[in-house]
Amino acid sequence: MSEVLDIVKGRDPYQKEFHQAVEEVVTSLEPVMSKHPEYRSQKILERLVEPERVIEFRVPWMDDKNEIHVNRGYRVEMNSALGPYKGGLRFHPSVNLSTLKFLGFEQVFKNALTTLPMGGGKGGSDFDPKGKSDAEVMRFCQNFMAELHRHIGLHTDIPAGDIGVGGREIGYLFGMYKKMRNEFTPILTGKGLNWGGSLIRTEATGYGSVYFAENMLETRNETLEGKTCLVSGSGNVAVFTVEKLIELGAKAVTLSDSSGYIYDEEGIDHEKLEFIKDLKFVRRGRISEYTERYKGTHFTATVSGMGYNPLWDHKADCAFPSATQNEVNGKDALNLLNNGVYVVSEGANMPSTPEAVDIFVENNLLYGPGKAANAGGVSTSGLELTQNSIRLYWTREEVDSKLRNIMKQIHQNCLDTAEAFGQPGNYVVGANIAGFKKVADAMIDQGVV
Ligand code: NDP
Repeated sequence: MSEVLDIVKGRDPYQKEFHQAVEEVVTSLEPVMSKHPEYRSQKILERLVEPERVIEFRVPWMDDKNEIHVNRGYRVEMNSALGPYKGGLRFHPSVNLSTLKFLGFEQVFKNALTTLPMGGGKGGSDFDPKGKSDAEVMRFCQNFMAELHRHIGLHTDIPAGDIGVGGREIGYLFGMYKKMRNEFTPILTGKGLNWGGSLIRTEATGYGSVYFAENMLETRNETLEGKTCLVSGSGNVAVFTVEKLIELGAKAVTLSDSSGYIYDEEGIDHEKLEFIKDLKFVRRGRISEYTERYKGTHFTATVSGMGYNPLWDHKADCAFPSATQNEVNGKDALNLLNNGVYVVSEGANMPSTPEAVDIFVENNLLYGPGKAANAGGVSTSGLELTQNSIRLYWTREEVDSKLRNIMKQIHQNCLDTAEAFGQPGNYVVGANIAGFKKVADAMIDQGVV
């Protein structure tokens, strides 16, 4: 397995995030690789770490002052053994091939865990929607889709949202696809509710990550009721994580964005959360406004180079990292531990560094890695596609109960697999092996292609 890692590092020495994601998976696969020599002889790992296809393209667009800008667009089609490529689009200045390959790689295993027929992919651009007008975002999305439309399709590749790509962006992207192809095909998920979207899709990743925490707590005969929770981010995943926590009787005391975080000892209630939804999804403002509105709450600005994130240094029971990759490092993990946190459910993708993951696992925390804990989003995308196919829409309650059930199955699958491979309670091993086995077996069935 170290050979595979050497190949990956040798081929693309600068793709650090991708190396990290591959290393995390391959190091936990030892037990399954030694039981199944066919995975070695069929070079499954070597094939898995190489995307089936990478598409890179130019996206020129014009701002409101008629100035022309050029961004880069990408789609990484990682693996289609289980179905058409499926995974989000991210618009953020940090986007590059390393980020998208790590996200695409994670997505392959995550999608396998959902039990739905979906391969894995990821895409996006280094375009930053922050501070842009609606018209600028629209023009960018249209030019992005003017190229992407050639590569996606209902039976090929079905993108969704991710950081920087929410309902507004999905709408503009879809409109352009429809115009260029002259067909109303559901080639994106996260669509608007009145034109093919599913109820609960927006909420699904956050709700799912809370359900995963609930399932982990159940193994110790506990519930979320009365638990104090630290949540990072204030986007789609974070906001609906807090919504579900409130519903289940827990108290969320933090939220953040790239400028800093707020701490509210009383807890964020429904009314405060509505304020945040308006602030973040309508006015697109900064999280610090929260403390201007609610007295007695605190805002701490982000200071780069501190070596730790003070958000994770508060007394609590549970943590829900829901912003971005590597936002919890080894020092943060120790702070969480020392502050009494014993449940970590990852809404974001790879938010914990390898050092942090080791600390969680060594100390027997209930630690749900992103590829399992945040699979509720893509699962509900799968449910959106099912509804599009049968041309029927399920109620909010129906979708939510299917989501809850899928999260329960994922949790159980991780637990059973970890147990079967001699590491009971280790959700990292459980998720990686369960996801890997399903994809590996399908690849063997389909031959060397
Ligand atoms: P959003 O764009 O809605 O929100 C992202 C949040 O994280 C914002 O508050 C943003 O702050 C903050 N953030 C982003 N990058 C950074 C950074 N480099 N440093 C500090 N803060 C940052 O994205 P989502 O909520 O959709 O996604 C959050 C995470 O969840 C990502 O890791 C994503 O891959 C993952 N995920 C999302 C799914 C979905 O369905 N949307 C599905 C599965 C996983 P600011 O606005 O200041 O940048």
